[in-house]
Amino acid sequence: MSKMKAVLKRKSWFMRSFPQSLNVDIPATALLSHINRRFLPFPFRKFNSSFHFTISVAKQMIPQQEPDFNLNHLKLYYGKLFPFADLVRWVSYGNDGKHPGCDQSYLGRREFSFTLENDIYLRFQSFNNTLELENSVKEKSPVKIDIGPVYSVDPAKRYAYAQGENNVFAPVERELIFDIDMTDYDDVRYCCSGADVCLVCWPLMTIAIKVIDTALRDDFGFKHVLWVYSGRRGVHCWVCDGKARRLSNEQRGAIADYFRVYKGNENSHKKVSLTGAALHPFLATSYTNVLKDYFEKNLLTGQNLLATEERYEKILNMIPDESIASELRGRWQDSRRSSSAKEDINVVRWEQFKQLLQSGKHKAQGLRRCVEEIVFSFTYPRLDMEVSKHMNHLLKAPFCVHPKTGRVCVPIDPNRCDEFDPTTVPTLSQLIEELNYEGSISDIDGELNRTSIGNAITLFRSSFLQPLLKACKEEIENSYNLKLQQSKNSLGWLSSPKRGSALVPSPRAAWFEIQQNFLSESSDHADESPEGHFILMSDSCSAANAKVDKSAFLPEFDACL
Ligand SMILES: [Zn+2]
Repeated sequence: MSKMKAVLKRKSWFMRSFPQSLNVDIPATALLSHINRRFLPFPFRKFNSSFHFTISVAKQMIPQQEPDFNLNHLKLYYGKLFPFADLVRWVSYGNDGKHPGCDQSYLGRREFSFTLENDIYLRFQSFNNTLELENSVKEKSPVKIDIGPVYSVDPAKRYAYAQGENNVFAPVERELIFDIDMTDYDDVRYCCSGADVCLVCWPLMTIAIKVIDTALRDDFGFKHVLWVYSGRRGVHCWVCDGKARRLSNEQRGAIADYFRVYKGNENSHKKVSLTGAALHPFLATSYTNVLKDYFEKNLLTGQNLLATEERYEKILNMIPDESIASELRGRWQDSRRSSSAKEDINVVRWEQFKQLLQSGKHKAQGLRRCVEEIVFSFTYPRLDMEVSKHMNHLLKAPFCVHPKTGRVCVPIDPNRCDEFDPTTVPTLSQLIEELNYEGSISDIDGELNRTSIGNAITLFRSSFLQPLLKACKEEIENSYNLKLQQSKNSLGWLSSPKRGSALVPSPRAAWFEIQQNFLSESSDHADESPEGHFILMSDSCSAANAKVDKSAFLPEFDACL
């Protein structure tokens, strides 16, 4: 084991072992010598380091390995609790065969992908109904279920189509998706790193949900947005409106770019570049409503962003004017020697920083913008752009169980995302315990209600699925009615080819349709006069023109066009 690995491992152990509020900066030398003596085998005991631990308020780690995650529990979960029907109703988008406008092949063209134990991947699975999906999942017990796009043809039969001259196998629909992962924030969080997540860094995810959700709804007009906890260290977002599902890759790229302000890399001090005389309204609103508050009230002290020289240097390096940076550096080096314990050092230094950069003395645009840039660097959502840009990216299905943490990928209510606590998300073993506790087997809804997954499923149904399906039903009905109307209209224009495009409904097309209907309706009543209908429906013909007998009806109509 390398020295650094050993340190990190001990750091991780320490974080898990002391979940209570500590909020102190501990020189590693003292701490490690204690750990060395007590816990490490002899060869490691002499190890020493200048590594600093900062243990912040309410330090509560999410255990990274569910101790008793096993396939039998997973089988029970799939057997009794997994909401197959809800999942299928969602990805069917109203195409349930109940309306003549439904696309019967829709669900069967959706890719599901299973990951089995030992990393065996089963791609391009497809199912025609809930029962098929349920049976397959129960039989195979995948440790992960991913959802891919809807293809032009059944993905399970893609080879049959590929052998033809025209390879028609291509994705045609896919939710607009966003994947936000805490590992992308490692340079701005000091509480943990890598796959670890705690309540001190989780607010970074809360910020991402607030910022992206607001923009998706207010700036793009999307309504059906599902947020899901990834089960370990991040969140997934599914935008499910019809217009989102039908976006091309280019359009997806454009939306992803809309959110991009993070342009840095490991080696650049400045990760965010805000240009122009004024911030884009989306960025300005995000800053005022979300980022600034979370930075100042939460992350600044929670992460101790300015507490040590190493940390404040990182921020000072982002100031474009070296003289200001050194002025602050001088003050902070002095204040370390004379600081009182009354005020939080991070808050004091941040106020000094803002005051100096935003004072009248430094009116230059770049300097004042620098405060905003730093806040953006430490708070603004970091998206995995590639996931959002391409239709054929897979994303883990909601309600899967994360095999490392045992936690269920539950939906998050974006309106109450600041209340979401990843450490209290139900785990597989907890659910199985709850099932066993009740003992007797009741109906499926009974099973759900008496375990802690019940609330998550209720939230999924009430805040997402029901409004979505209502909108889908309306969309299917409207599109069906429109097609019906268009096909009638185009039939009409076929009989009257000289009038140009049949695609544009016009009063004349409606007129022709009425005539056709009238002729067929009145054929049994030859003595009835059609006159009243003509006067009522005519938009340009005179009533006199309309006064014709049925035999002269069509020619007369043509003549008046
Ligand atoms: Zn953390």
